[in-house]
Amino acid sequence: MNESIAKLTLERAVNEAQARSILNATMLKLRTQYGYAPDKGVTPDEMTARCEALVEAVCGAVEDYVEATGKAPDRMRNTARYRVSKEFPKKKYEGLQAYANVLDQRLKRAPLHTAEAIGNLLDFNAEYLVKAHELDEIKRRSRKEWQRLEYEYVERSDFNLRELHHRLLEHMDEEVFGDSIAGEYRKERRHWRKCRCYSCDNYFPMAKKHFMAKKRIWKFKSIDTGNKNSRYCSEKCQKAQEKALLRLKSDGTLLPKHFYLSVSDEWASDRYNSHNLPFAPEILSGISDKKSSKSVKKAPPKIQY
Ligand SMILES: [Zn+2]
Repeated sequence: MNESIAKLTLERAVNEAQARSILNATMLKLRTQYGYAPDKGVTPDEMTARCEALVEAVCGAVEDYVEATGKAPDRMRNTARYRVSKEFPKKKYEGLQAYANVLDQRLKRAPLHTAEAIGNLLDFNAEYLVKAHELDEIKRRSRKEWQRLEYEYVERSDFNLRELHHRLLEHMDEEVFGDSIAGEYRKERRHWRKCRCYSCDNYFPMAKKHFMAKKRIWKFKSIDTGNKNSRYCSEKCQKAQEKALLRLKSDGTLLPKHFYLSVSDEWASDRYNSHNLPFAPEILSGISDKKSSKSVKKAPPKIQY
């Protein structure tokens, strides 16, 4: 009896090992085929076909594995211990906790036969499918729709119309103008113009003498000199508008790409990590050596008598 159980267990173990290596091989093949970014101009239809083919292949591989072993593919577990409190210093993750607490870095490098590796590959392709649809929708966006988005897009609004109005009324309260308050308001209001940069809501003075002249909060040269022809509240806005006009020619909109192209969390974190790598220690010490050698004062020349 015991012998037959042992035989069965052994058989099952062999079966499992075989099924796992088959799944591993299939996944390796699929990853070489689908684990790379598609061409830049990929259409939604092409991407859909690619995803459907991948899903079919993955389903087949998983079904074979389940049939051979009688269970679902392995899942990653966090077997590390975590600190609970001073009294109970370390504890193991148990049950579902272990599956929920696997480190991101380990999940990314999940072994090919695990459910996580299969998920990663599907996820990677799904991202591109969503992106292809998004790009297609953007391509077909009319100028009118773009204009509405451009109107809503504001980067600078430190001194907008509401602020100007509020300050002007405050100023009117402080000074005594008698009956001609409305006239005075209009006169002062004529000195102010809205910045022509598409992403700026600021108002700025066109005349040298305006009610806030003493505060000198505008540093743009033409504003300081009270140039009536100035179009922008600052040099920043001037440059931003120039760049936006170039974008209008190439992309069909004034808006920057990062505003209308969504970036998935994972891509954003990858980009963040690739731009924020710490220096290698030897480079750092090299920099500090250079700095310290510069700051060391040269010894005064010796005077010989
Ligand atoms: Zn501006």
